[in-house]
This record gives sequence, structure tokens and C-alpha cells, in this order.
Amino acid sequence: MDYGLKGQVAVITGSTSGIGLGLAEALAAAGVDLVLNGLGDPAVIEATRAGIAARHGVRVQYHPADMTRPDEIADLVTSTVTAFGRLDILINNAGIQHVAPIEDFPLDAWDRIIAINLSSTFHASRAAIPPMKAAGRGRIVNIASAHALVASPFKSAYVAAKHGVAGFTKTAALEVAQAGLTVNAICPGFVKTPLVEAQIADQAKARGISEEAVMRDVILAAQPTKAFVTVEQLAGLLLYLCSDAGASVNGAMLSVDGGWTAA
Ligand code: NAD
Repeated sequence: MDYGLKGQVAVITGSTSGIGLGLAEALAAAGVDLVLNGLGDPAVIEATRAGIAARHGVRVQYHPADMTRPDEIADLVTSTVTAFGRLDILINNAGIQHVAPIEDFPLDAWDRIIAINLSSTFHASRAAIPPMKAAGRGRIVNIASAHALVASPFKSAYVAAKHGVAGFTKTAALEVAQAGLTVNAICPGFVKTPLVEAQIADQAKARGISEEAVMRDVILAAQPTKAFVTVEQLAGLLLYLCSDAGASVNGAMLSVDGGWTAA
């Protein structure tokens, strides 16, 4: 399908792994030039960057901005505009998780989750909105979560941050609505990425049950389909939102969760 995105430029935070990497691949396949970002082994990141560029014939750069550092986040955006001459799509995707009861929740884990999962979305959007407004068109897509809409125990920082992303998404959407920009959030259910795989052991410890029981009774228990959401399913919605057909979808929290939040 042609989404009309060829030649556009996207920044995707946290795109060295999981959902961000999958969305990067889908945008590249649609002809979008990319700036990747995220943590990891520099050699692996370079192989990833070169691989996407070669597979899809697009330009791909990498920027090492730490999503806890507002100055580095702003530089990720402004240096993209300088290098490519435009910025059409910003995907705020970087995120981390920590699972623990509130009374035991480490203070540094709370601060890091709020910084990476919530504040980085503000800092990147703050830098991206002026060039998008100047161009008269732009798409900001925040990768929130079903946990932007409902809660689960032992995820206080994550749920608070993702509910914050929901509020930020709606506010930003109202502010840019007449400038040709849209701001939306995709709210995935569980997708089998390294972030979820790491939670299985943590949840087992916090709940005092086996890892098998966490998979069966906690993770997939939340999803009526009893199946993980795939990155390809998220990419389909992302490409639609970025296309001209998505121009009137603004300020929306779009669930891709197999029915989890319908309950
Ligand atoms: P992941 O762990 O596979 O990827 C996270 C990415 O964020 C990586 O590229 C990592 O390097 C990057 N990152 C982490 N800390 C960073 C920092 N300080 N600076 C820059 N980059 C940093 O996780 P994922 O499952 O792909 O999650 C991606 C997003 O999707 C997150 O916002 C997450 O909350 C959200 N999400 C995931 C699921 C799921 O089930 N996997 C469900 C709903 C929402």
C-alpha cells in the first residue's frame, strides 16, 4: 500500500529495540528517511542502521540522545532538521519499566520512568513543533500503552507516566490543530519485546508466583484475544496516522490491545 510518505523524515526515540525498531523498519519500507535513537552496543546499532538503509534504499542516521537529558533530546530533533532539511514525523517511543509495590519502589526507578516515558515526550515535541508548524504539516505519534487508560498493580511509575502521556497528547493536539499537525497516542496491549520479557521475572517475584503463571494468568490474562499484539499491527496504524488519510485523527488514544481496555 502507498501511504504517500516517500521522502519524508522521521525521528523515532528508543528505536534500537522492540517496537521502535519495528516501526522504524515499517517507515523505511514506506520510503521514509530516519533518525534512530536508543541505547545499545555501538557495533550492533551501526549494523542495524546500515541494514535498514540498505534494505529500503532510504537515508538512516543514528543519534545517541539519552532520554533523561532534555538538552540531548532537543539536539536529536534540531540536528535532524539541520541534516535532512525537514522533520515530518516524530515518534515518542522510548520507554522503560520497573515492577514493584509502591512501598518498595526505588526512588531512582520512579525518576527514570517519569523522565524517559513521560518527560522525553514533552522535550522532543517541544523541539519538533516549531519546524513542523513552519512546514504546515507534521505528525507526532506517542507510543503510550493500555496502561495510559487502565492500571495494574506494582507498575505505579509506568501507569502514572503513561496516563501523563495521554494528557500531554490531548493538550498538544489542541494546541497544534490549526497548524496542519496531529498528535495522537497508540496504546498497545502486550507486545513480546525485551521490555515485556524482563517483566516476567519481576512480576513473578512481586506476586510470589512462577514465571509460567505470570505469562498465563497475568500477561495474557489481560488480553481477551490471548495473543500478543505484533509490531506489524502497530505499524499498520502508525502508517495510516502519518498519511493524509489520518489528517482528522487528532488527540486520540488508539487502543491496539486485543480488547483489553474494553473490559
Ligand atoms: P524495548 O525495551 O524493546 O525498547 C525500548 C527502547 O527504548 C530501546 O531502544 C532502548 O534503548 C530505549 N531506551 C531506554 N532508555 C533510554 C534512554 N535513557 N535514552 C534513549 N533510549 C532509551 O521496549 P518496547 O517494548 O519496544 O517498548 C517501546 C515502547 O512501547 C515503550 O514506551 C513502552 O512503554 C511501550 N509499550 C510496550 C508494550 C509491550 O508490551 N512491549 C506495551 C505497551 C507499550
